Amino acid sequence: MGPALVWHQPDVSLALSGMSTMAQVVENVAIADRAGAGRLSADELQLLERVRQAYQGLCPVPCTACRYCMPCPSGVEIPSIFRIYNESCMYADPLMGRMRYKGPFA
Ligand code: SF4
Repeated sequence: MGPALVWHQPDVSLALSGMSTMAQVVENVAIADRAGAGRLSADELQLLERVRQAYQGLCPVPCTACRYCMPCPSGVEIPSIFRIYNESCMYADPLMGRMRYKGPFA
């Protein structure tokens, strides 16, 4: 769910967003400044739903790479492996996924 859609919800008074760069902070603050409960139009909501469904259809694992699960006590590079798997599904390229799975992970 994108930040504009989160702010659209009337029951939301605080949104937590994983941000790792200053550009993401600036972008999120700008979106929050423009957003508000009920501000999205029916067309915008319909478009967001179509985009959500299309994206979910391409990415079987809904990992946002927030890294809250890291470090893994068993040393598994969880978000990197999910990204590799999702991208191999998205681009229908399992061979590239297998090669990247061998690491090193970026
Ligand atoms: S798997 Fe880890 S990195 Fe991915 S969404 Fe869950 S906690 Fe975040």
